[in-house]
Amino acid sequence: MTDNDIIEFDEDGVSKQDPNTPSIFKMIKSFSRDLAKYIKEGAPNVSPIDYAERLDACKACPNLKPSIMRCGLCGCLLEHKAKWTTAECPDKPSRWKTQEKSTDSTNG
Ligand code: SF4
Repeated sequence: MTDNDIIEFDEDGVSKQDPNTPSIFKMIKSFSRDLAKYIKEGAPNVSPIDYAERLDACKACPNLKPSIMRCGLCGCLLEHKAKWTTAECPDKPSRWKTQEKSTDSTNG
């Protein structure tokens, strides 16, 4: 691990390396809400193709914080959130395609 892998936060939970990233508190709140919804719905995952499409959309998005793969709007960790069928892109309009609800929780 290098010094670049460590994210430091100030007392308000704001990243010292990138003050424009949502605070750690906002990220935890948003990520926890999305995780609770995901679990409540039976942990449905998108297909591997849709997961790759979501990450491609994020990589092309000006809101992405690429060095930490976090969304600059919600602060979420995209490598996890993008797998969840119940998760939504917070941009308006959404940069992710709409998902059909699935009961398959084994594909990712
Ligand atoms: S706004 Fe949407 S597409 Fe952009 S980084 Fe966040 S989740 Fe990804």
